[in-house]
Amino acid sequence: MIMEAARKGQITPEMEYVAKVEEIDPQRLRRLVASGRVVIPKNISRDAVPTGIGESMSTKINANVGTSKDFIDMEEEVKKALIAVQYGADTIMDLSTGGDLDEIRKRILKSVKVPVGSVPIYQAAQDSIVDMSSDDMFNAVRKHVEGGVDFVTIHAGVTLDALERLKRSNRILNVVSRGGSFTIAWMIHNEKENPFYEEYDYLLEIAKEHDLTISLGDGMRSGCIADASDRSKFMEFVTLGELAREARSKGVQTLVEGPGHVPLDEIDLNVRMMKRLTDGAPLYLLGPLPTDIAPGYDHITGAIGGSVAGMHGADFLCMTSPSEHLALPTVEDIKEGTIVTKIAAHIADLAKTRERAKKRDDQMAIARKNLDWKRQFELSIDPERARRIKCSRKSKSDACSMCGDLCAIKIIQNALRREI
Ligand code: SF4
Repeated sequence: MIMEAARKGQITPEMEYVAKVEEIDPQRLRRLVASGRVVIPKNISRDAVPTGIGESMSTKINANVGTSKDFIDMEEEVKKALIAVQYGADTIMDLSTGGDLDEIRKRILKSVKVPVGSVPIYQAAQDSIVDMSSDDMFNAVRKHVEGGVDFVTIHAGVTLDALERLKRSNRILNVVSRGGSFTIAWMIHNEKENPFYEEYDYLLEIAKEHDLTISLGDGMRSGCIADASDRSKFMEFVTLGELAREARSKGVQTLVEGPGHVPLDEIDLNVRMMKRLTDGAPLYLLGPLPTDIAPGYDHITGAIGGSVAGMHGADFLCMTSPSEHLALPTVEDIKEGTIVTKIAAHIADLAKTRERAKKRDDQMAIARKNLDWKRQFELSIDPERARRIKCSRKSKSDACSMCGDLCAIKIIQNALRREI
């Protein structure tokens, strides 16, 4: 149990590994894990790469894959997971809702070494959202955990109280979280409290058996700019903060999710409030998306929001693909979404931990100065694309065809050497 070990003063092999990768003192990392400010999601029954998420860690990125009821192709989902990892995804979430969910999850868990997350309520609700029982919900969690997933999203902050507040709000899109909408539909139909909130202790017991990390889902995240930063969302953060505290007291590692569509100037406020209300829990953000009007380009929208959120303290960015709001992503969409999210995370790291993050940028600057194209490709986030563009329109000079012999880098170097 990673958190319990940290509290007892022990540095586990996972902590040692993360400390080395993150270039941080292992004792400092141990303290951050003990306090819940860093999590290392790792199911005891699976040998996932130890990955540190939270304070003083580099910003991590997740890629969502998974079938829908309209498109069920297991091989395609495995390909998406593999390409996401190839382009830098630190974790994969299987959000499948169509087909043989057990088999798809098994294949994804087997195909990648990074931590894998899931949303068990999708499986519990596969036949009927409103007719699932609370046992179905907890059994789905147990099934996913016993199958080896390293973290699960649970929408425990969606409560009857939150529902009443939502009804009094003037939101345009009400709820856009899929798990949140399932939970609310179930609560209204059954006139009952959310079982994951009411029997949260039981959930923590299940989590503890396998050292599962719980990602507290943001059922009330805003689905458009008009709904951003409202009472529904901030009240959910208060609940999530309480739930995160309770989980920590039982030695269960916890992430907190948020905040949806948020205008750029309110991202700072959202991130700081989330951190404050959750006692510094690692924040896992989808986007945030700072505009609603860019379907087809929401990977870029998400990357802009993600960079700003990361700069202000978000720890874990969920990839948005060009298909967001439009369709189930293709393999190419996942690749593109992963690459731009990786760029966003790196930009955030340059602002958060300049000296540590900028080593690669410094090497790129030197390679540019030397017109060393091979090295520039090696250092690129997407070497294949950089090489393809350079080679598609070659220059007769050793510079690139943008300026050719008028290359500013060459001219100024020659001038400074007084060779012109
Ligand atoms: S040719 Fe122009 S664009 Fe290309 S490396 Fe030189 S200065 Fe940069």
